Amino acid sequence: MSKFVFVTGGVVSSLGKGIVAASLGCLLKSRGYSVSIIKLDPYLNVDPGTMSPFQHGEVFVTEDGAETDLDLGHYERFTDTPMSRLNSVTTGSIYQAVINRERRGDYNGTTVQVIPHITAEIRTRINRVAAHTQADVVITEIGGTVGDIESLPFLEAIREFRKDKGRHDIAYVHVTLVPFLAASGEIKTKPTQHSVKELRSIGIQPDVLVCRCDHPITTALKTKLSGFCGVPVDAVISAQDADTIYAVPLALEQEGLTREVTDTLRLEERPGDLAGWETMVHQLRHPGDPVRVALVGKYVSLNDAYLSIVEALQHACLAQDGKLDLHVVCAEQIEQDGAAAHLEGMAAVVTPGGFGNRGIEGKVAAIRWAREEGVPFLGLCLGMQCAVIEWARNIAGLVGATSAELEPAATHPVIHLLPEQEDVVDLGGTMRLGVYPCRLMPNTISHKLYGEDVIYERHRHRYEFNNAYRNLFLESGYRVGGCSPDGRLVELIEYKDHPFFLACQYHPEFRSRPGRAHPLFSGLIRAAQGVPIVDEATTAMLPGS
Ligand code: GLN
Repeated sequence: MSKFVFVTGGVVSSLGKGIVAASLGCLLKSRGYSVSIIKLDPYLNVDPGTMSPFQHGEVFVTEDGAETDLDLGHYERFTDTPMSRLNSVTTGSIYQAVINRERRGDYNGTTVQVIPHITAEIRTRINRVAAHTQADVVITEIGGTVGDIESLPFLEAIREFRKDKGRHDIAYVHVTLVPFLAASGEIKTKPTQHSVKELRSIGIQPDVLVCRCDHPITTALKTKLSGFCGVPVDAVISAQDADTIYAVPLALEQEGLTREVTDTLRLEERPGDLAGWETMVHQLRHPGDPVRVALVGKYVSLNDAYLSIVEALQHACLAQDGKLDLHVVCAEQIEQDGAAAHLEGMAAVVTPGGFGNRGIEGKVAAIRWAREEGVPFLGLCLGMQCAVIEWARNIAGLVGATSAELEPAATHPVIHLLPEQEDVVDLGGTMRLGVYPCRLMPNTISHKLYGEDVIYERHRHRYEFNNAYRNLFLESGYRVGGCSPDGRLVELIEYKDHPFFLACQYHPEFRSRPGRAHPLFSGLIRAAQGVPIVDEATTAMLPGS
């Protein structure tokens, strides 16, 4: 039987509830408890797949092909446990299920209402994760802030949750802000008091308070918060700003978060093993020489748009004893100023995934620069498609070559629509999504890096390499690093006459973990450091080894 933790947020948004939920998952796992983490998002989109990264940051893709909130990436990275489509729930998906059931007549003539039908569906989704994963603890993060109209049904649902569970099956963790007012030099508890009051008015008394702050919270302040909020003083946890998100579990452990949650849930007291995590954080804090990496994208004003890629680069630098010196370069700026103006001095270039025309020419110019200058390059999804466009135009001499996504009537559509996408009309959830196998070609850098014949990577695309150009491509110094097992879809390309030029149709960034960097990212960083690509050290980090 699973136990349940609910993580709510108060006072302001962007408090890092996702990191707190992920950290708690990491800490429980360090004590040998299995965990699964759900994100409840209050918006009406069925999933974030149709949203611009400017709205909602990166779309994280699960193994089973769900397009989800980026917090699921934190959950996977902090718990090293794969999440599935069941772990991502939005108001839109809840209403869709309830309305579909109503249309089928399943409600037998009753009036369908937010309470009890919507809240029942929310509870069902949480219970479904417990049933499906059999996790010891299911953590549910409620998106939004207490007091928002749109998160009310979620809060009501987690209040109702108590009715079919035992007293010690549920813990409510409330994450709030305890701000420091510079003008008066004081730390203020009032916003937290109000937030807890609001939560109580809905019928939820938090068991634990996690207080985000930029100044230490003294015992006197904890006592005050404890008194006003009805939370034991030991359960008032200070979460001071950290230099790296990976230090958060260690700080929360020291503050006693795990003890408070396991006590509330009456889980057996077990010693935690955080030694590996501590070493990883120590290494992050004591890195080697900087590695200058340019990420040439178009969603540059929002860091979260490329979150998993940045994390994967970070993990690879950690594994290679380097310090990530990341430069997010705007592809459109390259169109204006030329690639060299922005990329000179970079040790590696990455072009990420994306959609649409904006910035394409800048990415293509960046790839040309990396290829001609012999600078290590990794292209991801649209980034690979841009590398194919660059090859077609500048090596194969195919004037005007482009992707059919960008120019449907192109003379040389070197990237074209997947045949199975031709009749697809709806945009939501209809791409080639999730894990697919890819057979690696022998004697390729990719094969050496992965050390496996067949790999499983996550996808999110509608377009692919156009096989009409495959022979021409192979004749010009490129090789196919990997294909779908039937040989049809080109998943990975390499350029032979280059220190490291690799591009893949899939998204390796989703599988990278802090203690287990992804081989393609490690390869890129090694090449950037001028280290031979494959030796024993690399092989030791490969998945499954
Ligand atoms: N827009 C491209 C496609 O649909 C690439 C998608 C991506 O980069 N995720 O194929």
